[in-house]
Amino acid sequence: MVREIFAKTSLNKHKRRDEWFLDDYSLNPYQLCEFNCVYCYIRESKYGSSMSSGLVVKVNMPTLLERELRRKARRKEFGFIAPSSATKPWMYIEEKYRVARRCLEVIARYRFPVHCLTKSPLILRDLNLLMDIGKSAVLPPDLRDKLNHEGPSDVLALNPKHQCCQDLRAKGSESQRKARCTW
Ligand code: SF4
Repeated sequence: MVREIFAKTSLNKHKRRDEWFLDDYSLNPYQLCEFNCVYCYIRESKYGSSMSSGLVVKVNMPTLLERELRRKARRKEFGFIAPSSATKPWMYIEEKYRVARRCLEVIARYRFPVHCLTKSPLILRDLNLLMDIGKSAVLPPDLRDKLNHEGPSDVLALNPKHQCCQDLRAKGSESQRKARCTW
C-alpha cells in the first residue's frame, strides 16, 4: 500500500557540499525504499528497520520543484541536485507515479545539473532527459574548471560492467559530467 501525500517543500539545501558526490541539493520524491537493502543507512533513522512497508509518494513534488527552481535559476543558484538521498526515485512504483521523471523534466527546463545514484535499471527510461540535462546544465562557478575538462566522462569511470553504464556510454555525450550517474 502506497500512501499519497502533498509535501510542503521540495529541495533540501545542504549546509556543505558533499565532497565526494558534489551535491548541493537533495530531492526525495518518495519516502522509504522498496529495495530494502540490509546495509541502508536509513534503517538507523526514524523510519526504522523495514524500508519497504509504508512507502510514501509526494505527488505534488514536480509542482513544488518548479516553483523552487524558477526562483533559484533567476538568482543563479545552480548546483548539483541528488534526486536520491533518503529514498530511490526509480523504484518500481515510479512506473506508475512518474514523479521522478516529471522532476527531471523540471530540472532539465531550469538547467540544473544532477547526480543520480541508483541500483534500478528503470533509470534507463529517463536516459533522454539525462542526456538533455547533460548537454545544457549550468555548473556552479567553482566547479566549472574542475568538470569542464577533456578526458573520459564521469559515467565511464564508474562501473563499465553495468548495462546501464554501457547504454549511457553508447549514447556517448561529452556533457555527461553535468548529469553524473552512479550505479
Ligand atoms: S536502494 Fe538505496 S535507499 Fe533503497 S534501501 Fe538500498 S541503500 Fe537504501
